[in-house]
Amino acid sequence: MRTPGRWMIAVVVGGAVLVVLSILAIDRSLTTYVEHHARGRLEALARASLGLAEMRLEQITTTLLDLAATGIDDCNPQVIEAMRRAVFSTTILKGLEILDDQGRIVCTHAGVPLEVPAVSREYQVAGQRFGLAVVRFRNRIDRAVRLRLDRPGGRSLSSIVAADALLPDTVFDDGRGSRRLRLTLGSGDVISTRPAGDEGAGLDDGRSLTVRKSSDRYPIAIVAERSRETLADEYQDLLMIGRLGSTVFFAFGLGFLWLSVRRNHNDPVATLKRAIQNGEIVPFFQPTVDTKNGRVRGAEVLARWRSPDGSMISPANFIPLAEQSGLIYELTRALMKRARDEMGAAYASRPRLRLSFNLFAGHLADARIVEDMKKMFEGSAVAFDQLVLEVTERAPLPDLGEARRVIAMLQELGIKVAIDDVGTGHGGLSYLLKLGVDIIKIDKMFVDAISTERYSQTIIETLVELARSMGMEVIAEGVETFEQVEYLRLKGIHEAQGFVFAPPLPASSYLALVEAMERPHLKVVPEPLAAVDSAA
Ligand code: C2E
Ligand code: CA
Ligand code: CA
Repeated sequence: MRTPGRWMIAVVVGGAVLVVLSILAIDRSLTTYVEHHARGRLEALARASLGLAEMRLEQITTTLLDLAATGIDDCNPQVIEAMRRAVFSTTILKGLEILDDQGRIVCTHAGVPLEVPAVSREYQVAGQRFGLAVVRFRNRIDRAVRLRLDRPGGRSLSSIVAADALLPDTVFDDGRGSRRLRLTLGSGDVISTRPAGDEGAGLDDGRSLTVRKSSDRYPIAIVAERSRETLADEYQDLLMIGRLGSTVFFAFGLGFLWLSVRRNHNDPVATLKRAIQNGEIVPFFQPTVDTKNGRVRGAEVLARWRSPDGSMISPANFIPLAEQSGLIYELTRALMKRARDEMGAAYASRPRLRLSFNLFAGHLADARIVEDMKKMFEGSAVAFDQLVLEVTERAPLPDLGEARRVIAMLQELGIKVAIDDVGTGHGGLSYLLKLGVDIIKIDKMFVDAISTERYSQTIIETLVELARSMGMEVIAEGVETFEQVEYLRLKGIHEAQGFVFAPPLPASSYLALVEAMERPHLKVVPEPLAAVDSAA
């Protein structure tokens, strides 16, 4: 098992950074949500408070209109009595006075003048004959609102309304004064505040939430504020659940990421897939040699896994996994493309050279291999008739009839098909006859036994006989000694492969060998397939 690579650490560090950023983002949206929610509540408070102030003012205007309707041009005892009754029955009404057209007090409900010096100028109530101003009241400490009914050409009726009564008695609060209300004139002059007497500049300094609502009916406005600092306390539970939730969620996510990265890293199939995609599976080339004259006839492509640390992994260690997992198709294509590109130039000028690839039994289960071969080699520098595909006899073919059909289609293209490891499988000779292949490759086992086992020679002789009668070529594999070469040549086996000539070579070595041993020939260009088709 390999230790975690740098990329794995990078993935995990990247994941952690992403998680932290996500948590920060969630935290930010939580804060935004909390602020939004708090602002909504503040707006509701402002609306309700403004509604209350309007309702109270409305109550007073009605009282004034009623009184005016009974006649106030005279300050007779009945008028004063009516005013007194109105003041007593209306809690928020603190005083009434009748003014002459110069604004001088003529009489009051109390019999003595009310001392209410103006704090602001008087504002006209839109569309009505009322004027509204802020005044001082009672020892000149408290504030009050003077609402004056103006009667053109006559006396006017002025009322003093307790400013305090225009705001709700209690503002839901956490007791730390975090919520504040201010009722002001449109001009900004303060009428009343909650908490009472708090006429400071307000919290409107960026650290607080502020909502302002103006009345359409009276020249007044409400400003509702709360400090942002206390928000976190009030929404503590929500924020905590949100933060905890997102942290737990991401911790799981990170754990999951780590596990899947680890699993993926330790998963041999995923590792092999990555290796194929990273081009770590490379072709080696084992030459096949003419036993009569020692010339190179071509090469068998054998897969090697060149891992990033430079070590070479033999196919016995990954081909079985590739076959089980189905990666063999991708692997074979990658190998073929690479061999084609590496050998193209040398093969194009040496049309007699062959390039042979190993197939797996599944490759002959359907015609996809035919399409693959067309895609990869049609019009390429390596011609179809330079190609050999080897199918091993060791593993039984899933569907003999279909294999036969696929082999015929390959042969139609000009590709030759060989049976590999002949003599080791269970199919026997009848197998070879049914498939109609072009070449048989006699397994190393028989070559090894040539000098020691008599039966081995018999088998080789039988195979040569059979091949000759069926027009098949024979190649001997795993040839390690000159005695074996001599024997094979005498038996009419003209092509051999083995360590006596060369082991599987990297592309550069095989190319050097070919260039040294085989002079380039002009390639005979085959008729294009289309021309053959149209002639048919
Ligand atoms: P194979 O197709 O029978 O390939 C011949 C194997 O015998 C090669 O082993 C080769 O290195 C070895 N060999 C060649 N000459 C001699 C010799 O004189 N003496 C000895 N002792 N060995 C010799 P390699 O390369 O390890 O390949 C092993 C098997 O892996 C191959 O057997 C083949 O079945 C499979 N294989 C290799 N590449 C591929 C591939 O691309 N696709 C598929 N499906 N199978 C592959
Ligand atoms: Ca082979
Ligand atoms: Ca073989």
